[in-house]
Amino acid sequence: MKTHMLAQQVALVTGASSGIGKAIAVAMADAGASVVVNFHSQPDAAREVVEHIARHGGRAIAVKADVGSESDVERLFEEAVTAFGRVDILVANSGIQRDAPIGEMTLEQWNQVIATNLTGQFLCAREAVRLFRRQGRSRGPGDGRREGQREGQREGADEAPSRALGKIIHISSVHQLIPWAGHANYAASKGGIDLFMRSLAQEVAEEGIRVNAIAPGAIATAINRESVEDEAARKKMLSLIPYGRIGAPEDVAAAALWLASDASDYVVGTTLFIDGGMSLYPEFRDGG
Ligand code: NAD
Repeated sequence: MKTHMLAQQVALVTGASSGIGKAIAVAMADAGASVVVNFHSQPDAAREVVEHIARHGGRAIAVKADVGSESDVERLFEEAVTAFGRVDILVANSGIQRDAPIGEMTLEQWNQVIATNLTGQFLCAREAVRLFRRQGRSRGPGDGRREGQREGQREGADEAPSRALGKIIHISSVHQLIPWAGHANYAASKGGIDLFMRSLAQEVAEEGIRVNAIAPGAIATAINRESVEDEAARKKMLSLIPYGRIGAPEDVAAAALWLASDASDYVVGTTLFIDGGMSLYPEFRDGG
């Protein structure tokens, strides 16, 4: 659905060539934002996301970067500014799983997950805060303008397009709360996001920067394809979801859109669980 909720704003979404990141990139473009589609290893898929957005009248570019690399993340933001003049919204979405029982978990598996899921969130958030500070409240001519719009033609030209100086949305997981045997590295990375997000939110709120997170439950994407496609595994997964369905990337995108918009302007340091009730201890449904 097309809206103007994010008109004249620029959103940078990491890991946006697939799954939840892709749905968020498309939703933000539909809401009027210019979108930076970060990808790591799927250039063709990223190009398709950019083309999809362009076909629907939006603006987007694809930029390759490893969120665990400091120099890559710095370049990612530089390219965003070169293309669109600024960044208003960061969605730190990239994440991986490298599952193993603890006795067999290699240091490499541990380090890879922490580097992408936790250090990646830190590097992107730090860069976003630095940029929000540099940008301040002033907007140069053409910043974040939609295609076809000329200076002086903008809706509400005298008003800033967002009440916040900038917005950061961390994509965490229900496993920031629910322990996950066999996935200790993943759960540790997501638990880390929770306190990183809340500490950052507390630190920068007075500057007008809003930091929040989304904790998705079971969403059908590449990360859990096996559990969703295998009948027995799917049934087991559904037994953990009180609402009775596996989520779609669009369920998460709708929440991200709200958190990025002025509709949530008083929401600071919160994690929204988008999980069909997975975090409600479903084993206790029948009285425990
Ligand atoms: P996905 O595998 O489709 O998306 C992950 C994205 O991260 C991919 O596009 C991948 O290329 C990118 N990525 C991986 N390593 C990267 C790196 N070093 N630098 C930049 N990008 C990198 O799976 P998804 O389900 O869409 O996952 C998105 C986020 O949602 C992840 O953080 C994941 O942990 C979280 N999540 C997903 C679920 C779910 O059920 N699908 C549940 C809870 C949380």
